[in-house]
Amino acid sequence: MAEIEIKFPDGAVKSFEGGITPLEIANGISKSLAKKAVSGRLNGEYIGMHDQMMIGGDFELITKDSEEALRLLRHSTSHLMAQALKRLHPEMHFGVGPAIDNGFYYDTDNDAGQVSVEEFPVIEKIMHKIVEENLPIVSREISRDEALEMFKDDPYKVELINDLPVDEKISIAVQGEHIELDKGGLVPSTGWIKHFKLTSVAGAYWRGKSSNPMLQRIYGTAFWNADDLQAELKRRDEAKERDHRRIGAQQDLFFTSQEVGSGLPVWMPNGAAIRRTLERYIVDRELEAGYEHVYTPILSNLDLYKTSGHWDHYHDDMFPPMDMGDGEFLELRPMNCPSHIQVYNHHPRSYKELPLRIAELGMMHRYEKSGALTGLSRVREMTLNDGHTFVTLDQIEAEFKNILNLMIDVYNDFNISDYRFRLSYRDPENTEKYFDDDEMWANSQRMLKAAMDDMGLDYFEAEGEAAFYGPKLDVQIKTALGGEETLSTIQLDFLLPEKFDLGYVGPDGEQHRPVMIHRGVISTMERFTAYLIEMYKGAFPTWLAPHQVRVIPVNREAHGSYAQKIVEQLKHQGVRAEYEARNEKLGYLIRDAQSLKIPYTLVIGDDEQNNESVTIRRFGSRDTENMALAEFEQKLLADIANYSRD
Ligand code: ATP
Ligand code: ZN
Repeated sequence: MAEIEIKFPDGAVKSFEGGITPLEIANGISKSLAKKAVSGRLNGEYIGMHDQMMIGGDFELITKDSEEALRLLRHSTSHLMAQALKRLHPEMHFGVGPAIDNGFYYDTDNDAGQVSVEEFPVIEKIMHKIVEENLPIVSREISRDEALEMFKDDPYKVELINDLPVDEKISIAVQGEHIELDKGGLVPSTGWIKHFKLTSVAGAYWRGKSSNPMLQRIYGTAFWNADDLQAELKRRDEAKERDHRRIGAQQDLFFTSQEVGSGLPVWMPNGAAIRRTLERYIVDRELEAGYEHVYTPILSNLDLYKTSGHWDHYHDDMFPPMDMGDGEFLELRPMNCPSHIQVYNHHPRSYKELPLRIAELGMMHRYEKSGALTGLSRVREMTLNDGHTFVTLDQIEAEFKNILNLMIDVYNDFNISDYRFRLSYRDPENTEKYFDDDEMWANSQRMLKAAMDDMGLDYFEAEGEAAFYGPKLDVQIKTALGGEETLSTIQLDFLLPEKFDLGYVGPDGEQHRPVMIHRGVISTMERFTAYLIEMYKGAFPTWLAPHQVRVIPVNREAHGSYAQKIVEQLKHQGVRAEYEARNEKLGYLIRDAQSLKIPYTLVIGDDEQNNESVTIRRFGSRDTENMALAEFEQKLLADIANYSRD
């Protein structure tokens, strides 16, 4: 056979006899390489380890230590699952089955009945059997007619085949009796797949369209070794335990319902107590830092958002305007900036007033996609801890530092330490997407970076993450579910002041244009509460806990009035205290208080009553402590005043 020339990633070129396989090439280099090579890639396309190479070109081996190999493994595991499902339910139909971050899924459809989580062990057992059979996985090209014939009992696959462009090659992957429509990029045989687990099942419309049939999406995950799989499963269990939707229901903090509308949460008294505490806290902090708090309408004339540019740039995320029938159109605001600009513009401004800091707990409405809505963390009605400072060019840097210091102080009060600073720049390859002023971008990006360096803060830089009107600093936090979210943000804006023709009188008596800085410190009340629930796992520090103290009398007749007196006294001092009035066994009532993670449970019996004391059980502690009532009050108030700094 003719010789072929292979070029390796390091640039080396070698000749081989045509028909050689990636496995043979790997073996020629080293046995250990051959063992960890999952697939080859020739001229950009996957080639199986056992496939013959008839042409030369750029060649590389994809080895187990790469992210890509893990995706191939997971993709192969989805096929393995489909094969097992087919053995179990021969009449089942299949949609698509890709690898995704953290695992894989396959969309399935079975007239004969749904797959349930209880069935997973049975399916996994068949999967393990197919692993033992160690069936070779072989890909090959076929004609469109062959493909249609092969998949004639699988309507979704037929649709996929018919939708392929005419000149597109059609490939299949065969493992034993099972055939997949697939381009390749799979492990060499089923024996390579050992450590996997099916994890959940959910509904998904075929091709994501709600006019299509609803299929069952079965999720799983796979790893190269057992330890990694166990670690991932453990992480998922912990995430589930922390899930703010679960804790929210258990502690009766909030709910969403179809009657009210998707993404429109209802805050129950317990959740409202947390929110009220957050709101008072942040407003006080901001007043202290020189902000002026205002209230502005959540609804404004649509023209305001036309002037600001939101209607042009952002209108997919906005609720439709309300036609008032008299020529006026009202719009639920998606952002508060235009409202705060009205506050600025209400009076002529002088340089002596700058920086002018305007803040509000501003309610906004955004029409988020229904699939993206999640508990409190992504909603359609939200209240943002918003603020806009208006500054002169010379004041930008100092004000940026002021805001950053406020953020860091606030994070300390909540014990938030797992975050990273991201400097978000415009995409240099794509500058036409942004406000057109190269000098402004260069200067302001340089200035933000210099300020961060000056403050000695660590950060990373991200091109293409800027807002269209200016660069920004984002604070990225880790969520319980392993993702990253923006919590706080500081954004420079040179554009809105121009659009609304803002000005101030300078020391020279002339009009000048201010710069606007948008900033959010604790984000929306919704997202921040979701984050706190997950971070604290529902065990809030005392100052935030919906119920701070629960007082349980050993005997309601004998000790009820003293217990109630304690509650009244504490409430009088602003403590969220409550009397346990239920007639249940003491042990049960104590456990109940602990399960709600109430920081202080007080048990009141004869001794306590006789010497004006309380017996305290702290959440999470098995020990109790007896203390004079007056002393307890002092300690409790100190605890509440101290935020979470312990
Ligand atoms: P995201 O990228 O999360 O959609 P965004 O970039 O649109 O947010 P901003 O317009 O800067 O966000 O809004 C300020 C803050 O409001 C965000 O940092 C985020 O924490 C919060 N937020 C944004 N959208 C939602 C939402 N749908 N539900 C709850 N909070 C939100
Ligand atoms: Zn703004």
